[in-house]
Amino acid sequence: MEFSFEEHPHKRLNILTGDWILVSPHRTKRPWQGKVEDAAITERPRYDPQCYLCPGNKRSDGSTNPNYKAPFAFTNDFSSLLTDTPDGGLNVKGLLQAKSEKGICRVVCFSPRHDLTIPQMDIENIVEVIELWKKEFQELAKNEWIKYIQIFENKGDIMGCSNPHPHGQIWSQSSVPVEPEKETIQFKKYFEQNSRSILADYLIEEERSKERLVCENEHFIALVPFWAVWPYECIIISKKQVQYTHQFNVEETIALAEILKALTIKYDNLFDTSFPYSSGIHQAPVNDGDHLEWHWHMHFYPPLLRSATVKKFMVGYEMMANPQRDITAEQAAKKLRELPAVHYLSK
Ligand SMILES: [Zn+2]
Ligand SMILES: [Zn+2]
Repeated sequence: MEFSFEEHPHKRLNILTGDWILVSPHRTKRPWQGKVEDAAITERPRYDPQCYLCPGNKRSDGSTNPNYKAPFAFTNDFSSLLTDTPDGGLNVKGLLQAKSEKGICRVVCFSPRHDLTIPQMDIENIVEVIELWKKEFQELAKNEWIKYIQIFENKGDIMGCSNPHPHGQIWSQSSVPVEPEKETIQFKKYFEQNSRSILADYLIEEERSKERLVCENEHFIALVPFWAVWPYECIIISKKQVQYTHQFNVEETIALAEILKALTIKYDNLFDTSFPYSSGIHQAPVNDGDHLEWHWHMHFYPPLLRSATVKKFMVGYEMMANPQRDITAEQAAKKLRELPAVHYLSK
């Protein structure tokens, strides 16, 4: 019997983190008797008088949102990190360690519309969101004590999103958190040996095989990474190696908006639902030198497994050992690739 990636259990390396994952393709045939979620409600009003993110509405801190017409950012009323945290820490014989952490947390409303998610927005409006991401990032980076800025979105209540009004968040902080720190180490190691970006070389391999590509344009590629953990996990990688979103010119920014829309339309079309995910842009740390090894990319971690109501959980072996998946990256990419490019609600 010859080994086959499509049939036999194997391990794959995540080159961005150095972690391994277990792939068990033979298990996709098992029956499902586990938890089934309620189908998400997709019908939403354009404006919700109860929503604290809609234009003109009152927020929980007592302030009132302006009557904004374009993407709108403000400091989170319930920030996880605060600017006025005093320096402090603990180190008991290296056994009990803690350090104070400072930060600024911002919220970005994608548009005044309560009902429009990225796959349903116009390209020009998505470009406005990207321009605001660039502006916010550069403003935050002016604070020399800020070392890392994470732009992300939790979409859908099963991802823990507390308000259905389409929005994302930006958390900036005084140290580099765990995932980007792991990636920095991996990027550096490869760059020191090859004087090249590890993702640029990885893209060459992906373009050659095309097995895991989902969609692409002149400046960006969306694909299911070889080491994907979530069932339909994707990564958008820029063809040009840059460290930060604000290094993209006008044309590249439009191309980014286009690929964001194209990928999220495919996601919604997968199970005819407003597809939940956590997405995040990984950019180089700030106020810390050049980071020529870093390569801009954006992760999408969606939890849905086989329908709008069956979710993957990271439990058991995944908590005790390492993440595991059943459907292979190649099977997931093929399924996404073959979906229509037109949103199911606009047909
Ligand atoms: Zn709203
Ligand atoms: Zn990353």
